[in-house]
Amino acid sequence: MPTVTLRFYEELNDFLPGSLRKRDIEREIQPGESLKHLIESMGVPHTEIEVVLLNGVSVDLDRQLQGGERISVYPMFESLDVTPILRLRQRPLRTSRFVTDAHLGKLARYLRLLGFDTLFFNDIGDQRLVEISLSERRILLTRDRALLMRRTITHGCYVHAIEPWLQLVEVVERLDLAAQARPFSRCMVCNGSIVATQKALIEDQLPDQVARHHDTFWRCRECQKIYWQGSHYSKLLKSIAGLGVDNGEAGDVKS
Ligand SMILES: [Zn+2]
Repeated sequence: MPTVTLRFYEELNDFLPGSLRKRDIEREIQPGESLKHLIESMGVPHTEIEVVLLNGVSVDLDRQLQGGERISVYPMFESLDVTPILRLRQRPLRTSRFVTDAHLGKLARYLRLLGFDTLFFNDIGDQRLVEISLSERRILLTRDRALLMRRTITHGCYVHAIEPWLQLVEVVERLDLAAQARPFSRCMVCNGSIVATQKALIEDQLPDQVARHHDTFWRCRECQKIYWQGSHYSKLLKSIAGLGVDNGEAGDVKS
């Protein structure tokens, strides 16, 4: 059987068993086997890969292997400067929009908090998730690597972290989202956009305490939820600043 030598870089190693991490891996192949097939057979979803060098030359994942090749596999990382070499995806999606799988509901809410258009459904099949990702050009976020191995997925992102806020930190860093963020512009509950509203229009819906202490309000255009800068707000501002996101003062909340 012909063999090839592979090496995976950076966080791609997280998908490999410990004994194969950060070192050259000798692997038997079927003649004509594609790079995509070989790499995914080792547990690494194609969506996680930005660049593959075959004997030092950038190639795409459909390349068929003959044996004897040396293969270097680099992670998807939008802020990594790989412009001199060919990226596998033509270009990053211009506006980052997301759909998360059913296990990442809290991450979805945090992305909305930063203003990112993020769909999340409690009860949705994998096939439907993939369809939404493709038809609406949304980046699919998941911790299910089998889902990301589906051939049709073009923009997906494996989330390594377990804790929701750390998942947000990971996604913001990896997809270089800080500059695109518009905190407090989107409803965390329903993903609708939030607009300023006059106190007089909503006063009858406010708890007494809130009506007494606040004069500035926003309302979700979709679910009508009312927002104000309560005690939770300053905590959120601090957390958002920690992400490197310009945290948007009150006046920045707009339609
Ligand atoms: Zn809403």
